[in-house]
Amino acid sequence: MNQYEQLRSNLSQLNLQNLAENLEYYRKLVNNQEISFTEALLALTQQELKYQNEERIKRSIKRARFPIVKELAEFDFNFQPSVNPKVISEFATMSFLDTQENIIFLGSPGVGKTHLAIGLGVSACKQGIRTLFINCHELLLRLTRAKEKGHLERVIRRYERYDLLIIDELGYLPIASEDANLLFQLINGRYERKSTIITTNVPLSSWGTVLHNQAAAEAILDRLVYRSHVIKIKGKSYRLASAQN
Ligand code: ADP
Ligand code: MG
Repeated sequence: MNQYEQLRSNLSQLNLQNLAENLEYYRKLVNNQEISFTEALLALTQQELKYQNEERIKRSIKRARFPIVKELAEFDFNFQPSVNPKVISEFATMSFLDTQENIIFLGSPGVGKTHLAIGLGVSACKQGIRTLFINCHELLLRLTRAKEKGHLERVIRRYERYDLLIIDELGYLPIASEDANLLFQLINGRYERKSTIITTNVPLSSWGTVLHNQAAAEAILDRLVYRSHVIKIKGKSYRLASAQN
């Protein structure tokens, strides 16, 4: 291995992949005395940092398991005037995590609840916040399975650790009374420690009915609503509107 090959190999071993790839370009510039060694190293390290940051964000978004990646910038606030863009921008700063506040997006299908929840989740990932997106039905299936196998506490603890947990579609499918208790255990574990975003089409006053468990519903709401922002989206379905165009 010659010295140049050794250098590239060292850079790869140091996980400076981007720098290794750009090396040749800057080596020529320096050899032709077009830029100084310091300038070259500065440019190379800037690009490496940018690359590593982008990779970190990509990994974080992948780990959050969004069903599809949506940005808040893609949300048309003119279409949905009941959503205040200033409130959403404030959420996007993630300041609500500092005070363990929760967000509930409430509205009928197609009004953009999941889009806003994913958009906020993506913002969180960009800020290095450990985020998980999970459909409510899937979450309950996982908790039920964990309970059957005797791992419930461990699995709940895992969900408790996410700094931001997004539970999508609460109430779209009926929830069995025992499952409502599992959901309560999870929400209770996150209470005053971590923030949760929930999307639902069910007004809070009807949670007892869809959860088939008035006591669990009240206990969940008590923990959730204690510090929460309920964003009621009253408007047309974007899906229907775009299908008609
Ligand atoms: P919900 O979760 O309320 O049923 P979604 O967030 O899934 O609705 O929205 C349905 C579809 O319409 C998605 O593809 C979403 O990206 C899009 N959508 C909804 N509202 C808007 C909006 N105001 N601007 C842009 N796209 C929107
Ligand atoms: Mg949805």
